[in-house]
Amino acid sequence: MRSTGRGATQQSSAPYNRRVVLDFIRQHGAVSRKDIVDMVSLSPQTVANSTNDLEAIGLIVSRRLKAEKTRGQPPIAFELNPDAGAAIGISLEPGRASAALVNLVGDVRLRVDRQVDTGDRSAILAGMLDLVSQLRKASRERLWGIGVALPGPLGATELSFVGPTALEGWADLSVLDELRDITGLPLFYSVDSVAGALGETLFGVAKSLDNFFYLHFGLGLGGALVVNRAAYHGANGNATEIGHVPLVPGGRPCYCGNAGCLERYLSMHSLAEAMGVDDKQVWALPIEQLLREGTNSAFTAWCREAAERLRDAVCLIENMLDPRAIVIGGSAPKPLVEHLLALAQPLRHSVRGGLAGAGEPAERIVLSQWQDDSSILGAAVLPIYEMLSPRLEVLQQERRTEVDVADLLGHPGIK
Ligand SMILES: [Zn+2]
Repeated sequence: MRSTGRGATQQSSAPYNRRVVLDFIRQHGAVSRKDIVDMVSLSPQTVANSTNDLEAIGLIVSRRLKAEKTRGQPPIAFELNPDAGAAIGISLEPGRASAALVNLVGDVRLRVDRQVDTGDRSAILAGMLDLVSQLRKASRERLWGIGVALPGPLGATELSFVGPTALEGWADLSVLDELRDITGLPLFYSVDSVAGALGETLFGVAKSLDNFFYLHFGLGLGGALVVNRAAYHGANGNATEIGHVPLVPGGRPCYCGNAGCLERYLSMHSLAEAMGVDDKQVWALPIEQLLREGTNSAFTAWCREAAERLRDAVCLIENMLDPRAIVIGGSAPKPLVEHLLALAQPLRHSVRGGLAGAGEPAERIVLSQWQDDSSILGAAVLPIYEMLSPRLEVLQQERRTEVDVADLLGHPGIK
């Protein structure tokens, strides 16, 4: 355990302190009040107030630890109550919407999906409402909100385009406001790569990484930089859109207007092109068989090229950002990602790779354990993350959709 030290700089803010304590309990599992006091730089009284509040709301549960051979009462341990709530995550990709009901510790309770014409505003609203209604019926817990993950870039940028890996006509996100108004649930949305990265931070392979780069390998290619366990968004919320970094001089034309972009080589869309199938069919390709047989020349050539671009991407990311690790997630099949990573060895030298030896952390690249569910879980994490993760800006501005633990003290439930 390391001291988080976050509480110390805060003036007395009960909501903030509750979030600090809750986040600490989430990260470390069963902990005593003393553990919390020792590690988060809050006074014993503040910690006691926070744990009392959190237990009263039902977000944490306490149990007395087994007696050890010491004098006095054995300590009480606090743990996150996995059933204290759930969130709905929706992942939108061109042509399909997938959703899941996820509890506070990241267990998927129910997963549903459907094909949706993502170019039709009313169809997509109807589709999302249908998914939410199915999941709501299955939910016994308090619902914290809906998170929506969608392909970037978001809003109007110079790269705003209608490409096969972006959602058609989605510069205007007001359909999400409608979803919030109709369901009456707090709604959060994010680029799928950021959602996936936050999911890995809360529940996945990046739990112990305070900074890392998340490479989202799906139909397109995206990225997210997590610093101090929060995603870096950039000026317009479109930071680290690595798929459209042109790395191949004179390379394939890209729908963004440039040529040689990474995504034109390293994405499921580029695999679909190489195999002569459309984007929907690419998910049905017998990847494991193709890998085992190794006789399909189109597939083999695509893999070789994609692996070379993966080497470029790793080198670029490490030299620019020096992350603790690069986490690869997204909807691409895991055996395929593993194969590309094997082909990409040896990785290029970088500020990170060049320092092999003493002090070098073991893993340069870590694969998500979630495979094709990472975007949905990431989306579901958005409302949970808002609630669990203490952030400075929470103190500075109360946002309309903010889920604040404090609100719940006066409200038995928002479901
Ligand atoms: Zn591009």
